[in-house]
Amino acid sequence: MQFKDIVGQEDIINRLTSIIDSGRVSHAQMLLGEAATSLPLAWAYLQYLCCEHRVHHNEGSLRADSCGECPSCKKISSLMHPDLHFVFPTATTSRVKEKPWSGEFQAEFRDFMLQTSGRGNIDDWYDSLGIENKQGLIREMDADGAIQDLSLKAYEGGWRMLIIWMAEKMNESFANKLLKTLEEPMPGTVMILVAESDERLLPTIKSRVQTLRVESAEQKVENNAEFAVMLVGWLRMLFKLKMKDLSAQVDKMSSLNREQLKQFLQYAQSVMRGCFLNTTAGIDVHLGSGDEKFDTQFPKMITVNNIELIEQALDDAVFAIERNAYAKIALMELSFRMSKALKKR
Ligand SMILES: [Zn+2]
Repeated sequence: MQFKDIVGQEDIINRLTSIIDSGRVSHAQMLLGEAATSLPLAWAYLQYLCCEHRVHHNEGSLRADSCGECPSCKKISSLMHPDLHFVFPTATTSRVKEKPWSGEFQAEFRDFMLQTSGRGNIDDWYDSLGIENKQGLIREMDADGAIQDLSLKAYEGGWRMLIIWMAEKMNESFANKLLKTLEEPMPGTVMILVAESDERLLPTIKSRVQTLRVESAEQKVENNAEFAVMLVGWLRMLFKLKMKDLSAQVDKMSSLNREQLKQFLQYAQSVMRGCFLNTTAGIDVHLGSGDEKFDTQFPKMITVNNIELIEQALDDAVFAIERNAYAKIALMELSFRMSKALKKR
């Protein structure tokens, strides 16, 4: 599995490859979001981690990818790598009539991954096992098996890797054993939890894993539609600068949580860049907020005279939000800088 085969996830992919390139690989990473997107990401992440000839791109939207050709890439993409292990929910079947656990279904799970390219969901998996209406679980035996796998010497001399798929299906005894290994991580091991929801995970587990949120393509489109309305609402305020209205708009924006606010500012940045690049190339841009006049007029106001000031102001605001600055103050300051820059067209 290469990153290039996963569509619409460039932001998170670029974060994942830079984590690996900078040597800050977390021994426990959680990918939180639709499993059909997160499992391929986890798969490609481990392939990149082990790749002998990582490829870095100078153009295009991906900064890097695995080569797909080296022996390690081939073993991981075919799921034949001896140091790559899986834990997933299971239940009794016509073949395994008691004490089901992942160890009994390794071949079935690998087939399922290869056939669906990792994009199957939990119901597809239960269907392929034929467990009908039973609920799958990840149990204590899964923990014992995983700990044993991870404590063996790596066959290939590199990383020992474990993917825990649908981690929210772990029961309490699995969680307690997992917690012990998170408290005393084994050197040279990487564990990736793929989960669609973290509501049922113990807070002590959540606090010990590095979490990245994965948004599906549909969620991104939804967010962007909301962001477009908010962005235009805010931009309109920047021309007249009526303090009361601006302050109310900024309150609305500060009600986003920190991660969403950062995404909103990055969205604003990409819109501004798009306005500048397209209008200078003579292409009409439409902001898509539903306010026809503003949507078509505003893009023409981003010119060579103010694009750098605008990008810098947005960059500084993202930086401030990342540093836990008080959101409202950061957004007010950003509003004044943007307002000034827009006058320079
Ligand atoms: Zn490779």
